[in-house]
Amino acid sequence: MNPDVIVVGGGIGGLGAAFALTRRGLRVRVLEQAPEFGEVGAGIQLAPNCTRILDDYGLLDEAAGLGVRPGAMVMRDAVDGDELTRLDLGDLERRYGYPYLVIHRSDLHGLLLRACRAAGVDLVTDARAAAYENTAAGARVTLTSGVVHEADVVIAADGLHSVARALLVDDEPVSSAYVAYRGTVPADQPRVADVDLGEVVVYVGPSCHFVHYGLRGGELLNQVAVFESPKARAGEAAWGTPDELDDAFAKTCGFVRDGLPYLWRDKWWRMYDRDPIATWVHGRIALLGDSAHPPLQYIAQGAIMAIEDGWVLAEHVARNRGADGTVDWDAALAAYEAVRPEHCRRVVATSRTWGELWHLDGVRRTRRNALLRARDTYDYSFVDWLYGPTALFPHEEPPLFEPIPLDGAAATA
Ligand SMILES: Cc1cc2nc3c(=O)[nH]c(=O)nc-3n(C[C@H](O)[C@H](O)[C@H](O)COP(=O)(O)OP(=O)(O)OC[C@H]3O[C@@H](n4cnc5c(N)ncnc54)[C@H](O)[C@@H]3O)c2cc1C
Repeated sequence: MNPDVIVVGGGIGGLGAAFALTRRGLRVRVLEQAPEFGEVGAGIQLAPNCTRILDDYGLLDEAAGLGVRPGAMVMRDAVDGDELTRLDLGDLERRYGYPYLVIHRSDLHGLLLRACRAAGVDLVTDARAAAYENTAAGARVTLTSGVVHEADVVIAADGLHSVARALLVDDEPVSSAYVAYRGTVPADQPRVADVDLGEVVVYVGPSCHFVHYGLRGGELLNQVAVFESPKARAGEAAWGTPDELDDAFAKTCGFVRDGLPYLWRDKWWRMYDRDPIATWVHGRIALLGDSAHPPLQYIAQGAIMAIEDGWVLAEHVARNRGADGTVDWDAALAAYEAVRPEHCRRVVATSRTWGELWHLDGVRRTRRNALLRARDTYDYSFVDWLYGPTALFPHEEPPLFEPIPLDGAAATA
């Protein structure tokens, strides 16, 4: 029997959507190209706009048990190591009603996978989607193997290099010329002795930044080092390679440089996003997660947006379902498309400008630091638009924050 919904891609976005739709009573099949479901990388930050949804799904306690509930988020200057500003995450939890968590990606992914299994999602691996088309009754996915899957709706959660996106727009990922190195360090290593695992810390520096936080209840330290690749700027094909890493952080403080040897050097993540698009739905085929809105990761909202997408879609399915269980898919998809693209456009655009702010040098760095030092710890005007309840309708989308008047700021630290 055909499922009601096919989700292509079993990443965090795809599994989140599959679970959200299944708990609304739909039969969902996930098609994942890999031989098994899994996630690569290390930590991920989950802000209250995500933990609110995990709570609604009944998954928050398990997620909190797997991760760390940090007490503060601190921004420091990477060159001198000085603190610039901080968020009190206990107060933030009181304000938004839900915690800020940090969790290993594989733990979050595993949690969603178990939830999908328990809910009865049909999970299919070794299934690579090659083509999508609308049919009279819904939509169809043809795999590279030639096998065809049909459903009322197909959700393409197939990531940055989405095949389905080409149905809507002829575009390419935009290279930022920045690359991320990641790594986890067991808590018994000397490096971890110098670190407060109850803090999420970002060191912002000229053309680079460095992030660390604890994972798995403090068993692991997660570190991420991100820098602009000179080879990328020179147009070389092999860029972001490990030989560039140490040079990129040469001017940073000792604490940051001391963390570099603990990063994995056998894999790295070149950072791309895409220009926002306002149309995500093509008949009965809809984009979700990074296929629709891959961001640069500076405000740590990529996976969160993907989880929000699934939650919003499922809420609109529930609102557009008749007494006999029939879903008015055109209405549900239209409601989804009415609200999510504008929110995600704001996140993608803000992520770009936030990255520029982090990576300043010279007088603009000094001005930035002065502004950040002057910020009140309890001023939430920069995050209210993100961390409040996820909008279901356009009128619920909160106003965006006022941009930082950097050029008007005093050039004194
Ligand atoms: C360094 C870094 C740090 C980050 N930190 C954060 C953070 O702290 N918080 C946060 O919210 N986000 C963060 N992000 C962003 C986040 O990781 C992504 O936005 C998110 O994982 C996207 O999920 P997705 O499911 O949409 O896509 P993906 O994770 O890319 O999943 C796509 C899935 O689809 C499958 N697939 C692809 N093509 C096909 C096909 N043709 N057929 C079948 N299957 C297919 C893939 O195998 C994969 O399983 C970070 C990203 C980076 C690079």
